Amino acid sequence: MSATLMKGKPLAERIRAEVAEEVRVLGHVGLVTVLVGDDPASDVYIRLKHKAAVEAGFAATDLRLPADTSEADLLAKLDELNASDDVDAILVQLPLPKHIDEARIIRAVTPSKDVDGFHPLNAGELYLGRPAIVSATPRGVMALLAEHNIELDGAHAVVIGRSAIVGKPVMHLLQQANATVTLCHSHTRDLAQYTLEADILVAAVGVPALVSADMVKDRSVVVDVGMNRTEAGLVGDVDPGALDRAAYMTPVPGGVGPMTIACLLQNAVKCARYRRGELAYPG
Ligand code: NAP
Repeated sequence: MSATLMKGKPLAERIRAEVAEEVRVLGHVGLVTVLVGDDPASDVYIRLKHKAAVEAGFAATDLRLPADTSEADLLAKLDELNASDDVDAILVQLPLPKHIDEARIIRAVTPSKDVDGFHPLNAGELYLGRPAIVSATPRGVMALLAEHNIELDGAHAVVIGRSAIVGKPVMHLLQQANATVTLCHSHTRDLAQYTLEADILVAAVGVPALVSADMVKDRSVVVDVGMNRTEAGLVGDVDPGALDRAAYMTPVPGGVGPMTIACLLQNAVKCARYRRGELAYPG
């Protein structure tokens, strides 16, 4: 029996429509994306985010700065955006050019305007179990699981990947939903030993088909965050053959990907509510 596909597009469209309605009621919601340099992949991501924001009615600004922008100039620009009453949410597209200290830039965004949830205060609140602004992809993963009524309480969840953007936040969110979480990474010995025990498997690695079908537990739930560009097109971290073993699985493309942008827009609305005092930050 083939797994039920956990498609991201229909849920993402619903969320985006809800966000558009919230933005309509709020009035002006300002989202500024900042891209330093002309990395082609970043350019594609920024375009997609900007287009989605405009469609949802945000006052969206696509700020482009030259690749040789100094760290001091970028910090000055962020100061300006932090102070601006027209700006609710700020997104600095990563990676930044090598001469700029990424950690310093992430720290320079006002936490309540940090739509990506990367600021140490937002990461720390999540760690402490008081999520304020949580990065979009992990929230997208959780929303897909909720949409399909996947029981998390007491389930064994295995997350592969420990990045600050995906793996670690997913680990915290699953654990806060009362799953028992195992976190695997590139030093994990015998990955299959863990994945075969996973009621819920989240792969966020960036290695095509790292998880083969025979590494997946029968009737489990598989969330494939991986987005790997190959000659065969966009593929995930999980071999599609796993569809024959899992009970639920996200497709790639069309699974977690569309959820990321939808959840990012939700975060921007949350930032707007913080700035208007409708929500207390961190709350
Ligand atoms: P990352 O920062 O490169 O982290 C990758 C993680 O995978 C690291 O923790 C690494 O372990 C681990 N890893 C690497 N090789 C491994 C192996 N052979 N076995 C087990 N673990 C291994 O990547 P990321 O930013 O988290 O992104 C992960 C994937 O998700 C990428 O394909 C990315 O394109 C995709 N992604 C998708 C979306 C979306 O919207 N769908 C959003 C963000 C990212 P170490 O820590 O030990 O190095």
